[in-house]
Amino acid sequence: MLKTSKIIWNAIAPFFTPEEFGDGWEELRPEILIPLFRLRLDLPDAGDSKIIINCGYEDRSGGHGKGLAVDFRIILKYGNFYAACGVVESFLKKYGLEHLVALGIYPEWGDGKRPGFHLEAEEIRRESPRRWGARYKRDTDGALFLRDGKAVQEYIAYESCLKNINGGYRI
Ligand SMILES: [Zn+2]
Repeated sequence: MLKTSKIIWNAIAPFFTPEEFGDGWEELRPEILIPLFRLRLDLPDAGDSKIIINCGYEDRSGGHGKGLAVDFRIILKYGNFYAACGVVESFLKKYGLEHLVALGIYPEWGDGKRPGFHLEAEEIRRESPRRWGARYKRDTDGALFLRDGKAVQEYIAYESCLKNINGGYRI
């Protein structure tokens, strides 16, 4: 597999070190690293806001296995996760990336205390933007549905996931 040139890692160095992306960082592609860097650069109150990487390359199917996806949190100086969703949406729109970069939102990561994003460079231009939300499956009493001791995640429409956040989760 082609390795991402050092020039890309140098370009994003003001904000990200390869080690932040964990094991397998060498597999990450410029198609996702450069948008991530630009997003970081464009964050409001950039000096006081930050992006914390949860995971980059992982040896599994999907965007992470192709080195095209990164999971991360955005810490805004002013604003909660809902606001951060707006920041990412505006970013994708501003650079015409909506059909080229997919967006997933995960308000419940870390018991809702560390909500985050999955950003993924598409391999082909998408006819319509790929977006989704995720939540943990719960029983009628609201208790988490567990499988092998782990909360089971399910995917829902982006817009309905956003509605759940508004007034709900705070970071
Ligand atoms: Zn992910």
